[in-house]
Amino acid sequence: MASTKAKKQKLSKKHEAQAAPKVPQALAPETGAALFEDARSRLEAVFGALNIHPDAQARLMQPSLSLQVSVPIRMDDGSLKAFPAWRIQYDTSLGPAKGGVRFHPNVNQHEVTTLSFWMAVKCAVVGLPYGGGKGGVQVDAKALSSLERERLARGYIRAIADVMGPDRDIPAPDVNTDAQVMGWMIDEYEHIVRAQAPAAITGKPLALGGSPGRVEATGRGALKVLDLWAEREERTPEETTIAVQGFGKAAYHFARLASQRGYKVVAVSDTSGAIYSADGLNIDSAKKDKNKHGKLADSKLGKTLSGDKLLSLDVDILVLAALENQIHSENVDNVKAGVILEIANGPLTSSADEALSKRDIPVLPDVLANTGGVIVSYFEWLQNRSGEKWLEEEVNKRLDSLLDQEASRVLTRAEKDKVTYRQAAYRQGIERIAEAIMARGNCQNCR
Ligand code: GLU
Repeated sequence: MASTKAKKQKLSKKHEAQAAPKVPQALAPETGAALFEDARSRLEAVFGALNIHPDAQARLMQPSLSLQVSVPIRMDDGSLKAFPAWRIQYDTSLGPAKGGVRFHPNVNQHEVTTLSFWMAVKCAVVGLPYGGGKGGVQVDAKALSSLERERLARGYIRAIADVMGPDRDIPAPDVNTDAQVMGWMIDEYEHIVRAQAPAAITGKPLALGGSPGRVEATGRGALKVLDLWAEREERTPEETTIAVQGFGKAAYHFARLASQRGYKVVAVSDTSGAIYSADGLNIDSAKKDKNKHGKLADSKLGKTLSGDKLLSLDVDILVLAALENQIHSENVDNVKAGVILEIANGPLTSSADEALSKRDIPVLPDVLANTGGVIVSYFEWLQNRSGEKWLEEEVNKRLDSLLDQEASRVLTRAEKDKVTYRQAAYRQGIERIAEAIMARGNCQNCR
C-alpha cells in the first residue's frame, strides 16, 4: 500500500515537472512579422510597377484562410505534449492551395503565412493551376522518436482535415518532413474520409502513388534554372565553381546532379559546418560521411570551414539551400560570389537583396529556382487523378520542358523590363493571380 502511495507520489511529481514543458523557442514575433512585411513590400512594388486592379491588390494583401491548431500527442514516456501548428491558404484563385508542411522549432504564424504567400507566387510563376498554401508544426522533430513523429503527422492531419483535400488544399513535404511523413499523413486522411484519396497529398512514397523523380525534383529544377541562365551567359559548367549552403534533400540532389553535369562543387555545409575543396568535392562520398558521422564537419574529404565562411567564399555561384534569412544586412557585404541561386525559400532578407542588386550580383530567386518540387508534385497529383503511372524519364522530361518555357520567359522579361530576376518572376506570378482574381468577378458581396 505504502509503496503504491510512494509510486503515485513519484508519478505525480513527474507530472508536476512536466506541467511546464519547455516551450520550443519560437522566432521572436517581430522577426516573423518582419518576414511577412518584407514579402508584402515586394508585393506592393509589383502593384506599383504593373497595372494591377485595386480589387486584386486588396485580396492579395492578406491570406484567405489561417488555421491555428494544437496537436496533442502521447510521447513515448507516457506524457502528453501539445504542439502549436498552422495551415494557411494564402490565395486560391488559380486552383487549390498547394504547399508543404514543415516541422521546425522556429515555425510561427508569420513564417507560415509568408511561406504560403511565396507558394502562391511560385505556382503562378510556372503556370501551375494552384494557389498557395503552407503548413507548419512548432517542434524539434529531430528530438522525436519515429513513433512520436508518426503520431504528430497523424494528429496534424486530424486537426486540418476539414480544410484540405485534392480540390481544396494539398500538403507536401518541406523542412524536416519527407515521403514517410506523407505516407502517415495520407493514411490518416484516407481513414477520415473513408476513401482512397491519393491526390490529397503529394511527395508520398512510391508505393502509395508517389511520383518517380519527386525526391530529386527541387534540386533538378534548380539545376535546370542555373543551366538556362548559364547558357545565356555563354558560361560552361566546367568553368563554374559552386558553394552550397545546406545538405538536406534539395541541396544534396542539386550538388550531386550539378557535379555530374560538370560544375565544380567546391563546398557544402550542414549545421555542424562546411567542407571545402578547391578541386571540387565528391558529393556521394560527402553524403556517405554525413550518414556515417551525422555531421559534415567530421568528414575528412576537404578542409573544414565554418558555415559563415562558406557564405563569403569567392565562388561563381553561391547556392542557398538551408532556411530563410541567411544573408541579411549584417553579412551581405561579405558575399564575394558572382551569382546567388536560392533553393531555400526566402534565404535573403529584402535589404540584402537590395544590397546585392546595387552591387550587380544577380539572384536567381526562390520563386523560380525552387519550383521543381512543386512542379513534380503537380505531376504526382495528375497521375493520382488519372490513375496513370509515368516513368521517371517522362517526369524529368516534362519538368525540363515546363521550366524551359516558364523560366526562360522570366529571364527574358528581366532583360526586357530591365529589372532583377526576382522582380521579373514576381511580375509574371502576380499578373497571373490578379487575372484569375478579376476573372472570378469583382462583385464580392452581391449574392
Ligand atoms: N515544400 C516545397 C516548396 O516549398 C514543395 C511544395 C509542394 O510540393 O507542394 O516548394
